[in-house]
Amino acid sequence: MRGVVMYAPGDVRVEDVEEPTILAPTDAIIALSATCICGSDLWPYRGADDVDEPFHMGHEYVGIVEEIGDAVRTIEPGQFVVGSFFASDNTCEICRAGYQTSCVNREVLGTTGRAQAQRMRVPLADGTLVATPGIPSDDLVPSLLAASDVLGTGWFGAVAAEAGPGKTVAVVGDGAVGLMAILAAKEPGAERIIAMSRHGSRQRLAREFGATDVVEERGAAGVARIKELTGGLGAHSVVEAVGTQESTMQAIASTRPGGHVGYVGVLHGVELRGDDVFMTHVHLHGGPAPVRRFLPELIDLIWTRKINPGRVFDLELPIDRAAEGYRAMDERTAIKVLLRP
Ligand SMILES: [Zn+2]
Repeated sequence: MRGVVMYAPGDVRVEDVEEPTILAPTDAIIALSATCICGSDLWPYRGADDVDEPFHMGHEYVGIVEEIGDAVRTIEPGQFVVGSFFASDNTCEICRAGYQTSCVNREVLGTTGRAQAQRMRVPLADGTLVATPGIPSDDLVPSLLAASDVLGTGWFGAVAAEAGPGKTVAVVGDGAVGLMAILAAKEPGAERIIAMSRHGSRQRLAREFGATDVVEERGAAGVARIKELTGGLGAHSVVEAVGTQESTMQAIASTRPGGHVGYVGVLHGVELRGDDVFMTHVHLHGGPAPVRRFLPELIDLIWTRKINPGRVFDLELPIDRAAEGYRAMDERTAIKVLLRP
């Protein structure tokens, strides 16, 4: 079967890779209907994460179950399923509290989850996978795929930032996760949603997803603009969807005292001084999004066509052209690339 392998920063190849097999009785094998390239795949692509040896990419997936291990009870062959980038049992105390990405039995699929392929193995299938009510029509597949990571991650960002009715929400970052956080803030009825973005096409999509204002400035100037728009106080809720020092500080400084920052950008080299946090009275909550917590609700919203997060994919390629997709996301000519296996 075909799979996407990263050999070195900037060097992505599509080649014949080993077929997945059931390794544990709790595994399932799925045939992918669609997969995609993640913003986090760009960290190794750009050399910010090491590539010590070639690895098989991908952790976002939807598809049809082909085979299950002996201990799998709730997932069946033939079902269309959505899963997240961390496998979880969904039964331990941490999972039941809604933090499946910290499951005591978790298995991290991460960058090297082998989802950019025609088939993949999903560990802890009963806990990790959620079946849709039936086989979706083609036009729903991109939205269901978005639920696998970017939508679920943006959703957690908005929930962690306590976005809700009457609130002003600012979103730092106009990548796919930031755009999804806008949609996630709109759903529970945020009053005002400020997208921090300086790219025309992304601003348009941000407004389509529910942004009411756009701020183009960054850093201190961006913070000043947010303060200006909020009577000098700052936003109630800020979603940080980038993960750099500048974006993190921008998020904290844009939040009013007592407000909440939901941080879901994977942090790279960020250092916080105690003073930066102590004097702000800001709540900080985030981390790898427990996407599994939100999947049933997200699948329902998509299935009933109340939300259309699949709009975030602006380039679709056959998997054999994955290298083009990485280049397009790296050069920011595409927001998010869907790969057809
Ligand atoms: Zn668990």
